Amino acid sequence: MICKICGSDENKFIGRPRINNSIQHLLNHDYKIQECANCNFYFIEPEIDLTQQAWQHLYEDNYFADSLNNAWLRKLREKERKQRLKLIEGKLKCEKAKFLDMGCGEGDVLKEAIAHGFEAYGVDIAHNLSQENSGINFFKGNIFEAKFPDAFFSVIYMDSVLEHVLNPMETLAELRRILKPGGVLLVIVPNEDSFENSFIHLAYSLSFRNEKYGKIKPFVTPYHVNGFNAVSLKTAIDKSMFHETEIKGFGGSYTFWKASKFGSKQYMQALLTYPVGLLSVIFKKQIQLMAVAIK
Ligand SMILES: [Zn+2]
Repeated sequence: MICKICGSDENKFIGRPRINNSIQHLLNHDYKIQECANCNFYFIEPEIDLTQQAWQHLYEDNYFADSLNNAWLRKLREKERKQRLKLIEGKLKCEKAKFLDMGCGEGDVLKEAIAHGFEAYGVDIAHNLSQENSGINFFKGNIFEAKFPDAFFSVIYMDSVLEHVLNPMETLAELRRILKPGGVLLVIVPNEDSFENSFIHLAYSLSFRNEKYGKIKPFVTPYHVNGFNAVSLKTAIDKSMFHETEIKGFGGSYTFWKASKFGSKQYMQALLTYPVGLLSVIFKKQIQLMAVAIK
């Protein structure tokens, strides 16, 4: 298979993905995880053959179930949303009008965008809008089915989507088409080369399960079919004809003493993983990557 990002046909086998028992019967191949030798993009070979209905079912099945049960985490997310909206406003080189959250989930980014004076639109393959955000413009389906007009949006925000779609370059091309010249694209993906991933890889190697470890998880939550690092993410966005692309890492080193109740299981987990998160910050190999670019 050639790399979907850069077109190179040189890649190497790095492992096999874990498979969720409940979908095993839907899968017809022996899947491998490959790494592009040119741009470091991680992908599954052969291409995954699940239907859109099967994917929808996976995402509707409590995908966001435990995302909001921690007050401190909720506050952290809210702070992040405010910072990102500010960053976007600072970069905008066209009129401040329509804002798209592609993969809007519960709709909290859209709520923030409205508070910043944007007209908000959400698109998602599954309906997970919260009660509070249920009145916001929403289209259920993929971005191609939404058929927005050319140059419709001033801002397109896409957090935790590009690693889930089987056609990342077509998706970016469609986003470029519906973005205004001078509009801002913000993309967030997990960093597959994070210090955390290297640490997990080491743990697997030490327990002789090297073959089972893969950087991406297409068949267990969070269902990542593509894997990016800073190089492949920048390659993807630059090749899609966006400009002034800036990539930075974030996440890691979350303050464990705020993460949950003292002495609880979550607290102990957070305490044990804190040094890994701290090292990821020190070595600048944090768990998430954010790209901001202009059309
Ligand atoms: Zn490549």
